[in-house]
Amino acid sequence: MNKTVIKVEKITKQYRSGKINIFALRDVSLEIKKGEFVILNGPSGSGKTTLLNILGLLTRITTGSLFLEDQEVSHLPDHFLSSLRKEKTGFMFQQFNLIAGYSAWENVSLPLVPMGVSTKTRKKKALKLLEELHLETRADFLANELSGGEQQRVAIARALINDPEIILADEPLSNIDENNIELVLNKLTELKKAGKTIITSFHFFPATIEGLFDRMIKFESGRII
Ligand code: ADP
Ligand code: MG
Repeated sequence: MNKTVIKVEKITKQYRSGKINIFALRDVSLEIKKGEFVILNGPSGSGKTTLLNILGLLTRITTGSLFLEDQEVSHLPDHFLSSLRKEKTGFMFQQFNLIAGYSAWENVSLPLVPMGVSTKTRKKKALKLLEELHLETRADFLANELSGGEQQRVAIARALINDPEIILADEPLSNIDENNIELVLNKLTELKKAGKTIITSFHFFPATIEGLFDRMIKFESGRII
């Protein structure tokens, strides 16, 4: 049996918007093993992004427990979570979050900057990933000069540059054009074969994804159903 990489126990996430309290997650418990490829599925607003942000140490839970390997991490200070995040996770944002004035390769290589990696090495690693995602001709384009699908692939490359153990992908096909869907799915499959743990949300996905993942977890109104 593979070891548990990440686990949440009876978590809730509550947002306050003006005078309204929104429960984005209610009583969610979930355990993910090393090397698993898990899909979070459910309609818009069901809590998928919130859960990915929590698992990716980007958002804090309101109540419950969050374990990374055997360590309960929900009460750790920000700087500690931030270094765990940089070391262990790669996050593919649905909205890409690229820096507009930076080139594709610079965006991809950004996670290596705080690690003190030289510019030459950063560029070499970024170019390799961009090539794998068929973006070699776009390496020097500024992020805002790229199409939505290209930006999403740049964001995918950036999430992989530090060779993370845990890959979190929020609707990673949402802007990918038809011709590149297989490319992205192949990349995820390759990562799974390399023993990475992959957690991804899809509110809608191509039939070709059947057979690639291990488990689908369905959400509705912030609960697992
Ligand atoms: P999904 O990814 O499944 O579409 P989300 O996790 O984005 O769902 O959202 C779940 C619920 O939480 C929604 O009702 C959404 O409006 C609410 N929500 C998400 N983020 C925030 C926020 N920062 N502030 C207030 N409400 C939020
Ligand atoms: Mg979402």
